[in-house]
Amino acid sequence: MPARGPCPLLCQSVQVGKVVQIQSLWIGILKNLFMTGTLLYICFALVSDKLYQRKEPVISSVHTKVKGVVEVKEEVVENGKKKVVQRVFDTADYTFPLQGNSFFVMTNFLQTEGQEQGLCPQYPTRWTLCASDRGCKKGWMDPQSKGIQTGRCVVFKENQKTCEVSAWCPTEAMEEAPRPALLNSAENFTVLIKNNIDFPGHNYTTRNILPDINITCTFHKTQNPLCPIFRLGDIFRETGDNFSEVAIQGGIMGIEIYWDCNLDSWSHHCRPKYSFRRLDDKTTNESLYPGYNFRYAKYYKEHGIEKRTLIKVFGIRFDILVFGTGGKFDFIQLIVYIGSTLSYFGLATVFIDLLINTYSSACCRSHVYPRCRCCESCAVNEYYYRKKCEPVVEPKMTLKYVSFVDESHIRMVDEQLLGRSLQDVKGEKVPRPLMDFTDLSRLPLSLDDPPPIPGQPEQIQLLSEEVIPRSGSTPGWCQCGNCLPSQLPEGLRCLEELCCRRKPGACITTSEPFQKLILARRVLHFLLLYQEPLLVLDADSTNSRLRHCAYRCYATWRFGSPDLANFAILPSCCRWRIRKEFPKSRGQYSGFKSPY
Ligand code: GDP
Ligand code: ZN
Ligand code: ZN
Repeated sequence: MPARGPCPLLCQSVQVGKVVQIQSLWIGILKNLFMTGTLLYICFALVSDKLYQRKEPVISSVHTKVKGVVEVKEEVVENGKKKVVQRVFDTADYTFPLQGNSFFVMTNFLQTEGQEQGLCPQYPTRWTLCASDRGCKKGWMDPQSKGIQTGRCVVFKENQKTCEVSAWCPTEAMEEAPRPALLNSAENFTVLIKNNIDFPGHNYTTRNILPDINITCTFHKTQNPLCPIFRLGDIFRETGDNFSEVAIQGGIMGIEIYWDCNLDSWSHHCRPKYSFRRLDDKTTNESLYPGYNFRYAKYYKEHGIEKRTLIKVFGIRFDILVFGTGGKFDFIQLIVYIGSTLSYFGLATVFIDLLINTYSSACCRSHVYPRCRCCESCAVNEYYYRKKCEPVVEPKMTLKYVSFVDESHIRMVDEQLLGRSLQDVKGEKVPRPLMDFTDLSRLPLSLDDPPPIPGQPEQIQLLSEEVIPRSGSTPGWCQCGNCLPSQLPEGLRCLEELCCRRKPGACITTSEPFQKLILARRVLHFLLLYQEPLLVLDADSTNSRLRHCAYRCYATWRFGSPDLANFAILPSCCRWRIRKEFPKSRGQYSGFKSPY
């Protein structure tokens, strides 16, 4: 903001706020309660969330080892006969290397043996069945089929005919995964997870397997929560799934390792927390490819012909997700936290302010005031509100303030008069500012009568309710009998058509303060000197300076605040009484001019 007034651009000016201090027991208690509550909350949040720490995300590496052996009964076709053989599957048979923090355990499979390159009919489905060669298209290959069509329709089995393809023959049967899963007992397999973590910012490294750990343990949520060896069946039990069911179609399971590390020396803690989450959608139906499967082939040569065994593998992919943070005390972090909470203390003031505003404006200013139960506290709040609030009206050309001696409030008129007398305009009621008697004590007011000024008759009259119209020239709007018609030109005249009273009664010019304050030459002269101590008044300007000072003096007396005084209109009786006391030698009086 540019510097104001004579202060040069670079001068050091500081703008500070002004505050209203309310000295009240209840408000004090309320404020202190609020402050204490805020302080307690801030301290609680600081300690419980360790907000004094600088936190850093974990970086990690994972390595897994699956162990277990399972016996599988397999159907094998040998010399055209079906035979059941027992086969033992060990780690190398059922785990597959995967990228990332994942491992895979086979739980079920479909095998197509002895495939070789050649021509053969497709497996009959809705899309591959045909009646004649016309139903097949040479060279056609759709993403679902296993080979390229030759354009011939051949017999698959008995009366079923399908399109012939050039492919690995015989083509894979579109069969359902075996039920129950072939490797159902894979739920007894165990997996050892090795997880090394690092917080480079804090220069701290650790791992989940500590030297003193019992390598024969099995993880249990409550009894052995730090054991890094997990039984696959247990993992599924934790998430509420049935291993045997998932094993048929396969699925994806997440193993979450959460590190919430406190690296401060006085409360060091850095151990992992394990939890599990089913990651694939268990509600998907048949058409949305449920489970998790893929195909792989084992190739071999038989009598010089390349052959393969195609295996469709169903199984469970385990994804290991490592996350968490490590925090260590940091002074800057503490300062930042304290700084960010300071504004909460200001809430106490905002809250009390709100209380005062609501209970003073909503309750007391409404018409229900006399019936309002909280009247007493409302009145108190109203008082604080008035102390706190200074309404400022836009200083418009049309703005005027009027004060009647028989009314306790002031009226604000903010409209064009359009020929009406100012006396007749109702305006809006504004509370009269409180009188400040300290200013009065500075005036050289003597309660003795001032020495009579030569040529000026003594006119002190006591206020009386009796109205004696002075002459027939009193205008119709005058209620005190002392007003005179305005001298201003026709259009402006209505502005000066204002009496000192709303209802008939004694004139303010007959009151003692008016005589002793507004008309006292000594007082006015002193006031002028008060503003300009070395003022020398020459004969020409004396009266007009004193007259203007008397106007101002009246406005300050009757309207209090200088904001209002600037827009105050003097009643005609006062204006003419002042002009009579300090007349102008020649010419017309110019009257009120709006300061803006
Ligand atoms: P002049 O001395 O010939 O110019 O005429 P006046 O005696 O009417 O004084 C004019 C000055 O007094 C101007 O600065 C006006 O703003 C001020 N003045 C005149 N009437 C009023 C009034 O009703 N209210 C206020 N606040 N100031 C007035
Ligand atoms: Zn009057
Ligand atoms: Zn009057």
